[in-house]
Amino acid sequence: MIAAGKVASLAYTLKSDEGELLDQADHSEPFMYLHGAHQIVPGLENALLGLKPGDKRTVKVAPAEGYGELNPELKLEVSRSKFPSDAEIEPGMLFQTETAEGEMVFMVNSVNDQVVVIDGNHPLAGKTLNFDVEVLAVRDATAEEKSHGHAHGPGGHGHGHEHDDEE
Ligand code: ZN
Repeated sequence: MIAAGKVASLAYTLKSDEGELLDQADHSEPFMYLHGAHQIVPGLENALLGLKPGDKRTVKVAPAEGYGELNPELKLEVSRSKFPSDAEIEPGMLFQTETAEGEMVFMVNSVNDQVVVIDGNHPLAGKTLNFDVEVLAVRDATAEEKSHGHAHGPGGHGHGHEHDDEE
């Protein structure tokens, strides 16, 4: 049963309210996560608690329980001159910068000769998330997974996260 300290393997689709497919994992490459480690959005994590292999759920997650509400203050107009003049700046480009709140990732919305419009909101902020989830497997997390705060193994390291320095 899914509970804190368990690693669950999921097949899922994530769609917007408009039906647009935003993300998915299928049976051949399931997504694995460590329950209770905030690896997934709170609304989905809460809905999965207590489920067992074979269980299927449709879960609707409001923005506040997902990637947060859109914050208009994170959409900024920056003078083009603040960027290196030889830098190629294009819509969709991501870059990291130091802010008063710490390191943040911004996406370029638009750019012209004078102004670059950037947005620090998560791309899924403000969206209602519609998950169709099937639980494929549940196992105990290893001590190493618990210390890292995420699941290891196939599907356990999404988003390009790698470990060169496993202790
Ligand atoms: Zn790790």
